[in-house]
Amino acid sequence: MYIGILALQGDFAKHQEMLAMLGQDTMLVRTRQELELCAGLIIPGGESTTLSLLLNKHTLRDAIIRFAGEKPVFGTCAGSILLSRSVVKDPVESLGLIDAVIERNAYGRQIDSFIDDIDVRLNGNVQKVEGFFIRAPKIISIGKGVVPLAWHQGNIVMAEQNNILIATFHPELTKNPAVHNYFLKKIKP
Ligand code: GLN
Repeated sequence: MYIGILALQGDFAKHQEMLAMLGQDTMLVRTRQELELCAGLIIPGGESTTLSLLLNKHTLRDAIIRFAGEKPVFGTCAGSILLSRSVVKDPVESLGLIDAVIERNAYGRQIDSFIDDIDVRLNGNVQKVEGFFIRAPKIISIGKGVVPLAWHQGNIVMAEQNNILIATFHPELTKNPAVHNYFLKKIKP
């Protein structure tokens, strides 16, 4: 069983390293055929404008929307932007798979990137996780069906709705596999 990692642009290799550490087989996804072989998909951080254009170029946009109807999809940072229903400030054509409004580059420019503890609540247990925020977006609002899972200074930084999980930070840059493990539990072999 493969977990797909969208490998059009961004830090897909870091997700691959994290999943390898967890003993999980991965498939770098650049085509619809590769996507079809996967039981779940990660959309990495990178540049959401570029990623969105590349989704069209590789005819993956509709394929991912269909895929998400059946299988779990996890987006980090730029990936979380692409999964959101609506993107404000520097809008980008998103996939609209989670009922969230997200603001791009909401903490400022690249130089304003930071690392700080966040509180993550998974399966009822709250734990501190190191959050890497790299020109990160902010989740501005979530719909009724969306469950918040992590917070940084009162802001929701991770949330889920059924098959879809989003994080505005980069759990793949830590040594802590808690968030990836949580995503893997959603996968049905
Ligand atoms: N600033 C990027 C965007 O808006 C996201 C940055 C990231 O993924 N680390 O697409």
